[in-house]
Amino acid sequence: MIAYSAPGRVNLIGEHTDYNDGFALPIALPQRTSVVFTPADIDTLTVLSDRADESVRIPLDTAPGQISGWGAYVAGVIWALRGNGLPVPGGTMSISSDVPIGSGLSSSAALECAVLGALASASGAQIDRIEQARIGQRAENDYVGAATGLLDQLASLFGEVSTATLIDFRDTAVHPVAFDPDASGVALLLFDSGQRHGHVDGEYAERRASCERAAAELGVASLREVQHLGVEVLDGVSDPVDARRARHVLTENERVLDFVAALAELDFAAAGKLFTASHASMRDDFEITTGHLDLIADSSVAAGALGARMTGGGFGGCVIALVPAELTLKVGDAVRAAVVAAGYGEPEVSRVFAAAGAG
Ligand code: ADP
Ligand code: MG
Repeated sequence: MIAYSAPGRVNLIGEHTDYNDGFALPIALPQRTSVVFTPADIDTLTVLSDRADESVRIPLDTAPGQISGWGAYVAGVIWALRGNGLPVPGGTMSISSDVPIGSGLSSSAALECAVLGALASASGAQIDRIEQARIGQRAENDYVGAATGLLDQLASLFGEVSTATLIDFRDTAVHPVAFDPDASGVALLLFDSGQRHGHVDGEYAERRASCERAAAELGVASLREVQHLGVEVLDGVSDPVDARRARHVLTENERVLDFVAALAELDFAAAGKLFTASHASMRDDFEITTGHLDLIADSSVAAGALGARMTGGGFGGCVIALVPAELTLKVGDAVRAAVVAAGYGEPEVSRVFAAAGAG
């Protein structure tokens, strides 16, 4: 019997930078998805989850289109592993999780990475963690059919206690960065708005197309290649909307690096300001926030947070804030009151920290 688990994640800063070969800085969350796997000499894998009513039986030679629903995430991992020529044992697997589903905290990557780790441990296959991330992404892109980047899997696999993961998407490199605000008397608060992003694939595709057009007009393959020239380079982008989208990407990359520098100085006041600047850029230049999320971010800063920003793809999900520890209750109460007064549902507020990665 093999037990393996993988965490959800939250991105501290660096939004919509992944497909522009830029930077992001996620942490692994304390919430995890755990798998208990009992291998057997059979050619199917039967999985059950405390989040699902019925078990799913997956033939080991499964292919995209065969399994739908939540079982597709598991089947996708099997398919992607075998596609890489790696052995996959059959048996039974039971899954339990406290990662919220669909909140933007990446329950999907937690599930993929936990399943993958359990299967690889059972077969004895040595798969380096970058490759594991790619297998998880392939499962999600090509089996489940969700067009997502590599950030979620890298965050879940490379997370460490009191450490954020700096990802450079140009060469898929990861660097650990010390992140322990609690030791400096600062809390990381997570507000789950309860607002769910449905039907936003078109919005994402449009943002991506804007970035690609801007890069093409500047004669480069990705916006990262003009990062060193500063935002003035965007004078060369004729469409004003494309230029604004690209300005978010360039300034956001800068903010990720500035945030890492602020962490090195334990300067959480500066880090907080970068959160707030990132939110403004997503609101004004990239236009992916909502009035609901703006209100959570603004009211937390008004109540004393050092800074706050929406995290994730946008149009719903969560806001994070850096808050002096003694103000956490005050800020939580003030945000709840402001949100309810505006007629939105009460957000779920929790204090989170950088936790261990998959293992
Ligand atoms: P997010 O990753 O932000 O939580 P996604 O839509 O990407 O949201 O993934 C959520 C889907 O992943 C769920 O609808 C379900 O199909 C699957 N899933 C995630 N965790 C579990 C779990 N513990 N058990 C069963 N299915 C899960
Ligand atoms: Mg997901």
